[in-house]
Amino acid sequence: MSLLRTVPAERRPIAALESVVGPERYTRLLAAAHALRPRLAGRTIWNVNSTAVGGGVAEMLQTLVGYGQDLGIVIRWVVISGDPAFFALTKGLHNALHGFAGSGPPAGPAEAAHYEQVLADNAAELVDLVRPGDMVLLHDPQTAGLAPWLRRAGAHVVWRCHIGADEHSAVTLAGWEFLRPYLTGLEGYVFSRRRYVPPWLPAAAVEVIPPSIDPFSAKNEDMSDGTVQAVLRRIGFLDGAVAPPPFVRRDGHRGEVVRRAAVVADRLPGPDEPMLLQVSRWDRLKDMGGVLHGFAAHVAPEADGYLALVGPSVATVADDPEGAAVYAECVRQWQDLPAAVRARVMLVTLPLDDVDENAAMVNALQRHAAVVAQKSLAEGFGLTVAEAMWKGRPVVGSAVGGIPDQIAAGTGVLVGDPADLAAFGAAVRDLLRDPAAREAMGAAAHEHIRAEFVGDQHLMRYARLFTRVGG
Ligand code: UDP
Repeated sequence: MSLLRTVPAERRPIAALESVVGPERYTRLLAAAHALRPRLAGRTIWNVNSTAVGGGVAEMLQTLVGYGQDLGIVIRWVVISGDPAFFALTKGLHNALHGFAGSGPPAGPAEAAHYEQVLADNAAELVDLVRPGDMVLLHDPQTAGLAPWLRRAGAHVVWRCHIGADEHSAVTLAGWEFLRPYLTGLEGYVFSRRRYVPPWLPAAAVEVIPPSIDPFSAKNEDMSDGTVQAVLRRIGFLDGAVAPPPFVRRDGHRGEVVRRAAVVADRLPGPDEPMLLQVSRWDRLKDMGGVLHGFAAHVAPEADGYLALVGPSVATVADDPEGAAVYAECVRQWQDLPAAVRARVMLVTLPLDDVDENAAMVNALQRHAAVVAQKSLAEGFGLTVAEAMWKGRPVVGSAVGGIPDQIAAGTGVLVGDPADLAAFGAAVRDLLRDPAAREAMGAAAHEHIRAEFVGDQHLMRYARLFTRVGG
């Protein structure tokens, strides 16, 4: 049985970006791609990660791989497999790199041996695909152990880390020590923020590349108010039956939202009630429980509106073994709320069987929100923040990880201490009560994302990386 899965990322027309970023930025991008062409001739750029759906990395690969192809670059995406013990171990590592001890970073030779064995099995297939001279971008801790195999096969290896902690600590350093043997001596390293870089990596080999959003993906494409309402009715979030609403797939074909979400709620909200939304994986570091308690204690008593906590269906995300447990905790916390507050809180899980359809659901929910929360305790970058800002929504986010990189003055609200439920609640409450402030902040948010976090900027930074690596 094959362990590797090739993800078919469809070619996306790069020309479409010009309407968003303007002719100057667009021309600069084409020139950078043109300059790179001789260097990449005869080579494939491989992206390797551990999931095709769910989470920010999969989200970005879908679009960047597609745009890369349209720029004439041969670029492919493969996903590794592992057993539950492997993903439990890499989740511990993930938490450790974020500075959270949790189940702890993997320690001891048995765990290292298992990590290496799973990746050796994947590498055996990968080295049949990758040719000497090819470039390989390995994403996140799950794939770091592939690096030695690929280097021996003659590939140029870059490791990209999408996570990290604002400060190094004994916990993060222990996580980094686990990865160190696999990472030493690579040609390049990419981090979302400079502060995430472990102290022993050579600074000259590090590139800082923050993530980006794609304005034309099903997640972010424009959606009329009518379609937003229709999607929300169709998935069972609002009352009322409708025909399946349309969206554009990444291959350019039209799709329809047909599946339903699983909704835990005492009642469905009316279409005009203001919604506070957090969309996240069911991960403790996203603090869905904190949002629920902050809303119950500091928002519900003093402002209208309801809270929706939305995440992927927990059965489907293979590389996130904690998802089901965290979701179950949220359901218990919801059950324990006083009845009057419980009637204003909904838990929603979205099917992930069709990733474009799932994205269209998230799009509609973000557009329907009056205020978006990202109350993470730690955050690699937090693409959900840029997604909501692009849609003109005011975001109340914790000042952790990449969130302060995205929320500039006047474009959202940063809460300094992520554990401070009163401060979080006050920021949400003020916005829920003030539609004019929401509107002004949302407009500034949209412009800020256009300036800094659209895909052309991301591709330009990759172009700089590839002028350096590859021999
Ligand atoms: N997401 C999604 N469906 C869901 C929940 C999340 O498509 O049910 C997406 C979300 O829109 C965002 C990504 O998953 O694009 C999460 O990325 P982020 O950087 O916010 O966090 P990560 O999951 O990578 O920690």
